[in-house]
Amino acid sequence: TSPLTHDSRIIVVGGAGTIGSSTALHLCRRGYKNVLILDVYGFPSDRAVYGPSQSAGGSDLNKIIGSSNSGTRAEITDMTMDMWRNDPVFSEHYHEVGELSAAGEPEHIASLRVSYEAKLKHPIKSKEVEWLGTREEIVKRCPHLAKASIDGWQGIWNFKAGWGAANDAVDSVGRELKRFGVNMVFGQSGTFERPMIDPVSKRCVGVIAKDGSRYEADRVVMATGAWSPSLIDLKGQCVSKCWIVAHLELSAEEAARYRSIPVVYNEEVGFCFEPRLIKDYEPGKDRWIIKLCDEFPGYTRFMESQPFGAERPVKVSVPRSHSAHPTDTVPDEGMKRLRRVVEVMLPEFAQREFVKSYMCWCTDTADAEWLFCQHPDHPGLFLATGDSGHSFVTLPSVGHQVCDLLEGTAPADRMRKWAWRPGQGDPNHTGRGGPDPLDLGDLEGWAHGDDERAE
Ligand code: FAD
Repeated sequence: TSPLTHDSRIIVVGGAGTIGSSTALHLCRRGYKNVLILDVYGFPSDRAVYGPSQSAGGSDLNKIIGSSNSGTRAEITDMTMDMWRNDPVFSEHYHEVGELSAAGEPEHIASLRVSYEAKLKHPIKSKEVEWLGTREEIVKRCPHLAKASIDGWQGIWNFKAGWGAANDAVDSVGRELKRFGVNMVFGQSGTFERPMIDPVSKRCVGVIAKDGSRYEADRVVMATGAWSPSLIDLKGQCVSKCWIVAHLELSAEEAARYRSIPVVYNEEVGFCFEPRLIKDYEPGKDRWIIKLCDEFPGYTRFMESQPFGAERPVKVSVPRSHSAHPTDTVPDEGMKRLRRVVEVMLPEFAQREFVKSYMCWCTDTADAEWLFCQHPDHPGLFLATGDSGHSFVTLPSVGHQVCDLLEGTAPADRMRKWAWRPGQGDPNHTGRGGPDPLDLGDLEGWAHGDDERAE
């Protein structure tokens, strides 16, 4: 490929998502002047025009933010947390209310204990955690669980963790990108259809959008999250899955009692956050909302698809987005698990209906490490995907890694971890334990209307 200079034309596809927006931000901060982001949807505050990409991983009320334990995410955790606390683009969107990570089953408690012991060996992390071994100790840190069904729970209390206001943080990146003068194209003209490939050199020289618009570039970065395997043939290295989000509405009086509660995560049940006042939750109506998720292996949606680079249609798990299909609901069996989260963690609201529930998509690699590499057949085409369901926390820092990849300055061991690696494990079963993921096509209660690929 031609040498990278500050005048190189760089396209970030999926540039309004988590990894893509962070990549564009770090490119700008490193002095690149010719950055273009393309996305189906705009940043959250552009929603009057395009609607929020509710199915994008980064489009959410809150995400758990805290130090990571494995892979590159753990290696960059100091940078990540420093930026959440001190970088003005991110700091006002981070709420350090503490996090309880708990379990009730003996084998899960044992694995949390291993993780706790590992933290104790670290000079800084050891001061940030405490083991909570009884109901009383848990309630002391999380008083709102006094009436919850937590008998037998044990786990790690982390003082230096909390949640990030996901939509607002991504939006803040978007505002910063606008300040830098980054070009942005959303909608049909921003929707990647295929790369432009030079017929002789096989180099990627740009992007062709869904409406036929053509954009020339020296580098193209595909940060298209769960959509990546249906856009580019990744040879089975990533499998996209969805998880479920539900919103519970509280009155102002109820919300006052639950303000600033810690994040509570139990891998056998799910997790929930403190309530947030969401302006214009519906046009003209503000609402106090608690976001909660159940914990399970995710759902796939396998179908025939022909991504770029595949000689014939292949079986790929293709996201079906809530933005494109707003009447889609959650599978019945998933809804039962969501109700259980409320019954166990927030029993006061056990009878209350959710105001919203939808599915949100990620893409898993077999080893839960990122797929950050140049395409082996098409120089100039870079992949920045394989989030494996844990990448929002790295919003401030992940783009730094992608820039290192583009500049060829990433440490060799990191490049090896991120490398193109087909045939190494089955991403459908990414070390999450538990049963295999179910396929949405086999489940009752989720889809409405047509089942065509919309994106
Ligand atoms: P996304 O943020 O989804 O971005 C992909 C972008 O690509 C989108 O903007 C999309 O519109 C765009 N795009 C798609 N197709 C095209 C196309 N054809 N052309 C142009 N653009 C396109 N992580 C945490 O760290 N902490 C958590 O607490 C946490 N909780 C989660 C809870 C749930 C329910 C889910 C589903 C995920 C959670 N995650 C969490 C994981 C995290 O959200 C993801 O790992 C991360 O957001 C993925 O980032 P991404 O950039 O790869 O994808």
